[in-house]
Amino acid sequence: MIGDFMLWLEETGSTQNILKEFSFPYGTVVVANRQWEGRGRFGRKWHSEEGGLYFSFLLRAEDFKELLPLPLVVGYGVLLQIERKGFKPMLKWVNDVYVSGKKVCGVLVERSKEKVVVGVGINLNQKEFPSDLMATSLYMLRNEVFEKKDFLLETLEILDRVLEEFKNFGFEKFRPAIRQRLMFLGEEVVVYSQEPVVGIFEDIDQEGSLLLRTAQGLLKFNAGKVSLRGS
Ligand code: ATP
Repeated sequence: MIGDFMLWLEETGSTQNILKEFSFPYGTVVVANRQWEGRGRFGRKWHSEEGGLYFSFLLRAEDFKELLPLPLVVGYGVLLQIERKGFKPMLKWVNDVYVSGKKVCGVLVERSKEKVVVGVGINLNQKEFPSDLMATSLYMLRNEVFEKKDFLLETLEILDRVLEEFKNFGFEKFRPAIRQRLMFLGEEVVVYSQEPVVGIFEDIDQEGSLLLRTAQGLLKFNAGKVSLRGS
C-alpha cells in the first residue's frame, strides 16, 4: 500500500529527487515540510514554503497498463480529498487542481525505467503567495487550519484506492467523473504545446488526452498547458 513506508523530512531540495536518486520499496512516500528546489513540469519552480503539503511516492511502471493518464488520475484522487473537506475543486487538464479559479494543487509524474515517481504539492495552510501566482491555500479559502498528517493520511488512502482501480479497470472507469470536474470543458481555450493552438475543449479521450475542435479539425494533445482564451 502507498505509505507503508514513509520518510518525513523537515526540509529537503525535492521529495522527487530523493525517490529518484535512492533505492526504496515501491509505495514509499517521502514528505517534506519545506522544499528549496520544489519543481513543476518543465523544471518550473514549485513554491514550497512552510504550511504546504509536499510529498512524492514511488510506483512500478509495469503495474500499469497505461501511464499517460496518471497525472489526471492522481489529480482526481487529490480532488476527491479536497471535495471531502467541503470545497468545490476542479481539475485543470492535465495536472492541477483549482478552487475558485486558483491553483491549490499540482501533480508531477516523472519516470526513469521501472520507477515512476509521483509528486504532489497541496497548498494547505499557507497564509499568502507571491502576487504573480494564481494560487491559494485551503486555509486562505476558509480560514481553517488543516492538520497536515491527517490530511496526508486521508489523501494517501484515497490515492491508494483510486490507483488500485486504475490498475484493474483502466482510465475508462474514471473518465465520466473526471469529465464532470474539468475546467474549461466546452469552452474556447488555448492549448500551449509546441505552439499555441486555439479551439474548443471538446473532450478527453480514453487515454486522458485533450481533444481540441479547431478550424483544421479535431486535434489531440497528450501534454501541454490549457488556458481560457483571452485570459
Ligand atoms: P500553469 O498554468 O500554472 O503554468 P502548469 O501545469 O503548466 O500550470 P506546473 O508545472 O504544474 O505548471 O507547476 C508550475 C507552475 O505552477 C509555476 O510555473 C507557477 O506558475 C505555479 N506555482 C508554483 N508554485 C505554486 C504553488 N505553491 N501553488 C500554486 N501554483 C504554484
